[in-house]
Amino acid sequence: MRPPSVNDLALRIADVGLPHPLLVIAARAAIAAGDPDSAADEAHRLRRSLLGPAVNATGVLLHTNLGRAPLGHQHSRVPLGNQHSQALLDLEHDSAVRFSNLEFDLASGRRGSRTTHASLLLATLTGAEAALVVNNCAAAVTLVLAALARDRGVAVSRGELVEIGGGFRVPEVMEQSGARLVEVGTTNRTRAADYLAAAERDDVALLLKVHPSNYRITGFTEEADVADLAKIGPPVVSDLGSGLLDERCDWLGQRPDWLADEPGARQTLAAGAALVTFSGDKLMGGPQAGIICGRADLIAACAAHPLMRAFRPGSLVLDALQSVALAYLRRDADAIPFWRMARVPVEELAQRAEALGVGRPSRTTALAGAGSLPGQEIPSAGIELDGDYAAALRAFDPPVIARVNEQTTVIDLRTVDPADDAVVAAAVRQALSQQ
Ligand SMILES: *Cc1c(COP(=O)(O)O)cnc(C)c1O
Repeated sequence: MRPPSVNDLALRIADVGLPHPLLVIAARAAIAAGDPDSAADEAHRLRRSLLGPAVNATGVLLHTNLGRAPLGHQHSRVPLGNQHSQALLDLEHDSAVRFSNLEFDLASGRRGSRTTHASLLLATLTGAEAALVVNNCAAAVTLVLAALARDRGVAVSRGELVEIGGGFRVPEVMEQSGARLVEVGTTNRTRAADYLAAAERDDVALLLKVHPSNYRITGFTEEADVADLAKIGPPVVSDLGSGLLDERCDWLGQRPDWLADEPGARQTLAAGAALVTFSGDKLMGGPQAGIICGRADLIAACAAHPLMRAFRPGSLVLDALQSVALAYLRRDADAIPFWRMARVPVEELAQRAEALGVGRPSRTTALAGAGSLPGQEIPSAGIELDGDYAAALRAFDPPVIARVNEQTTVIDLRTVDPADDAVVAAAVRQALSQQ
């Protein structure tokens, strides 16, 4: 029997719901594999390889493979105040198509700057003079080095020449930016005097501190305070990475224990850093972005650098970031999914685990994740299943991502939105029934 034509086969699997050209790819793959009957499976596989939602039941709040900080869908538009007439309020509507004032100055009607919207909000949140948003923290560090230290020295402790993950290695970023690495101190101990000696001996444009996000050096160790470095002379840049805006955590009411001694952007600037850099999608809980806050003249130099054109984020990111920044300013932690999930009382999670009606309710430990706060556990609750059901849960639609410890599948509810509890229960029932 002759194999069916690619086009006929693609038409036969149309109910998978993919556009025809993608069905053709699936059909062709099935025919090439000598198994035309597998075309629908191929198409389903292709459909699942597209970007889509996943239920994070790992207990890792900032899961690097699941998009780091969870995002809510909301517009960042500030509602009109009550000084406006009802007629104006009636005009508030959500049209299906949206332009924005991304680069339009509404006061003058002329071209504006896409960096001004977020700048005021982020500067207010961190006590900085100014702020700038780029695509991620790696871009933020690269831009700072390129704009402020090209062909000049940057002093970094030998204990902070780190790899953050995903290929972000401080010495390589330095090289790419055109700055020259000036190593100071030793792996375990670096003092302010080491930076001072480098600044006296060498042409040092910046003193760079890199927060050891994903590792700890313990034992016979010493590192220099930002406050001491600030007295030396060259601007101090602190790459915080994790992006806790303010150690006081006003948006939570109180600082949770698991934040341990994580430095805040506001406190690092107050201690004398000229600039701080951090990710938007780690402890800040926003979209993928890199944020530079600090001295206005240095921010202006970064904004004017040609690399800024390549690193600038689009309006989707700036819109999401603005909405998160406004939530912080309102002290509305519940509007930021990361903080909403992080602060749910463990008893509430335990009740939800009972209510699922599947598996064995158990206490678990969640983590901040994304290399932030290594070793800091967040008390949590969920269910356990005897055996490894990770693949079966992943196969559910939408996929449920769990973790497996020594043949026990752990489903942690700290990272699951309550609206997805029913999905989790259904996925578990299906996984158990397929045994
Ligand atoms: C995570 C991290 C980065 C990289 O941030 P991205 O936003 O992923 O580019 C850089 N520096 C530090 C200290 C980090 O923790």
